[in-house]
Amino acid sequence: VARAVLDRAAATEPTIAAFTCTAGEQLLDQAAAIDRRRSAGETLGPLAGIPVAVKDVLCTTDMPTTCSSRMLKNFQPPYDATVVAKLRAADALLVGKTNMDEFAMGASTENSAFGVTRNPWNTDCTPGGSSGGAAAVVAASNVPLSLGSDTGGSIRQPAAFCGVTGLKPTYGRVSRFGLVAFASSLDQVGPLGWDVADNALLLSQIAGFDQRDSTSLDAPVDDYLAAIANADVRGLKIGVIRDQLDGDGLADPARHAVQQAIEVFTAAGATIVDVQFQQTKYWVPTYYIIAPCEASSNLSRYDGAHYGHRAEVSSEEAQQHGPLVATYCKSREEGFGAEVKRRIMLGTYSLSAGYSDRYYSKALRVRRLIRGDYDAAFEQVDLLLGPVTPTAAFPLGDKVDDPLQMYLCDLFTVGANLAGLPAISLPAGHTDAGLPLGVQLQAPPLREAAMLRAGTVFQ
Ligand code: GLN
Repeated sequence: VARAVLDRAAATEPTIAAFTCTAGEQLLDQAAAIDRRRSAGETLGPLAGIPVAVKDVLCTTDMPTTCSSRMLKNFQPPYDATVVAKLRAADALLVGKTNMDEFAMGASTENSAFGVTRNPWNTDCTPGGSSGGAAAVVAASNVPLSLGSDTGGSIRQPAAFCGVTGLKPTYGRVSRFGLVAFASSLDQVGPLGWDVADNALLLSQIAGFDQRDSTSLDAPVDDYLAAIANADVRGLKIGVIRDQLDGDGLADPARHAVQQAIEVFTAAGATIVDVQFQQTKYWVPTYYIIAPCEASSNLSRYDGAHYGHRAEVSSEEAQQHGPLVATYCKSREEGFGAEVKRRIMLGTYSLSAGYSDRYYSKALRVRRLIRGDYDAAFEQVDLLLGPVTPTAAFPLGDKVDDPLQMYLCDLFTVGANLAGLPAISLPAGHTDAGLPLGVQLQAPPLREAAMLRAGTVFQ
């Protein structure tokens, strides 16, 4: 298996470019070690010998963790993220780190400092982002499973663009220890794989309380594999957020995918119910205040002294601003790309004296109202069904110079992050041009099992 993974990467990487780093020949050693333990009669973990790739935002002791940023180009973490430690404990093969938008900011993987990743279905198109590499390696059959992170849709949107299945867990369900922070109140690690069973298997291995993450939930982990063994949606009430399905933010092929999903669930015995959300038009604006505010705070540590790339400062520069400030400024100037700088400026502005009431505090209040819409809906329905993305994968270069257009990719995904809820993107056919489409299920807190079970019926 390890040899096949290396051969496959050699065949796909020249065009897809989904990895920032691979274990290389070291993968054979990992496999041999597992094999030796098996021969010695040891009981192996549930992922024994299964190749898994992880987004390059997760700390790994044996490979660099760059967040696809020049800032962390040479960062070699001294510890594993909890989810990575869990993969190793489950005897998975750790194949490599996958490309992403720098610090997970973006929706196309074009913001990577190390070059773009291409969509395996059409190499002129983006694989989505920010976990574009993690979705592409599954779609290109490099690995059956990968880990991504989702702050505003970064697992679900690339899953939809690449025709794979990706799940964002309830906030706190999966440890964030060793996940390089983007927006801490929104970030979650989650699985990508071919289908719902893959997601259930990988989620069951990474979920659970972690005392090293102060926002980790101390709640029992459901048996996700048992949940999907008995797939049945009879009697289930599934809500559809009407204004999202009818609104003009949604292109026809993506709308059609949801309409077909409605038919599938109805035929399988579920009841579809229209639900009204009052605040959907505020999802993207609220997210694009809160996420940059938290990012500007989280990214302040990369100053060339505490962490990250350190610039060479000339004696004139040192004289002009003082050596410390000159080092901070030049290191950040060189280390961060344009989108990251944009977010830091947006966030710093929104948090600054005189403006934080108008922007940040207000966004927090709207966030409560958004959660209120979900709470009210989940009094009537078990799950929500809707689109993942406004369109299928778009051509590389199409939106990269137009941040607002890029932000609108998140129209249907940021709600679950703002409310802290679990959501899954399921493959749902393709466009006439052969590009994959997805549909999204969202569930109440900690109802991943119900969501996975319903997902099994659909696929
Ligand atoms: N596209 C969104 C953003 O740029 C979501 C990113 C994410 O989930 N990490 O912020």
